[in-house]
Amino acid sequence: CGIVGYVGGQSALDVVVAGLKRLEYRGYDSAGVAVLADGGLAAAKKAGKLVNLEKELTERPLPAGSTAVGHTRWATHGGPTDVNAHPHLDNAGRVAVVHNGIIENFAALRAELAERGHDLASETDTEVVAHLLAEAFSSAGDLAESMRMVCRQLEGAFTLVAVHADEPDVVVGARRNSPLVVGVGEGEYFLASDVAAFIAHTRSAVELGQDQVVELRRDGVSVTGFDGEPADVRAYHVDWDASA
Ligand code: GLU
Repeated sequence: CGIVGYVGGQSALDVVVAGLKRLEYRGYDSAGVAVLADGGLAAAKKAGKLVNLEKELTERPLPAGSTAVGHTRWATHGGPTDVNAHPHLDNAGRVAVVHNGIIENFAALRAELAERGHDLASETDTEVVAHLLAEAFSSAGDLAESMRMVCRQLEGAFTLVAVHADEPDVVVGARRNSPLVVGVGEGEYFLASDVAAFIAHTRSAVELGQDQVVELRRDGVSVTGFDGEPADVRAYHVDWDASA
């Protein structure tokens, strides 16, 4: 339902949780975050309102890092439980992905993954993406390229945002029939399903086109199609009343 990603000099978790709060008005049933820190990845997710997640983060704090993703979920596949909440991780715990929308062919992909030895923990359509990204990364060695490889296998409407512990200063996003916007700051970048999530930090935004993948690094942004073809990145000014 709501997606936020961040890479930059601020505490990434603080930025992401604040962004999720700005998206609360859309409604949701659970929430979660993942942060890259100390060469690894740490995640927390909770059914219910964001206060439940915040309580969890107070009781069991995650390490501080400069790259994080967050999600508020509106369940379509699998009930609103802690396990079904996003982010979803691969079995090695190196990839985390958040997702809006529906992966229509998830059942077939799930069966193939199970056959290849993957252990899927949730009932969601989303979790297949984490496992597919981990497989793709082991051959491509690059998260943006892995995302393109995976998106070419997916059917349905989706916004995906992912991080990998082997690329500590990178956030990758993709979209098809579901919105995703990049917020361009100075030495920091945001990804969100709605500009409301980052309007407090920057008014410079890039709208991602249909079937495109974006890679955010601390020093810039690049966009390609699912086919790898480079695309234009044109920022516009968000003219939007932040009090609305
Ligand atoms: N289909 C996914 C799920 O049920 C994502 C739902 C959403 O858009 O929040 O977990």
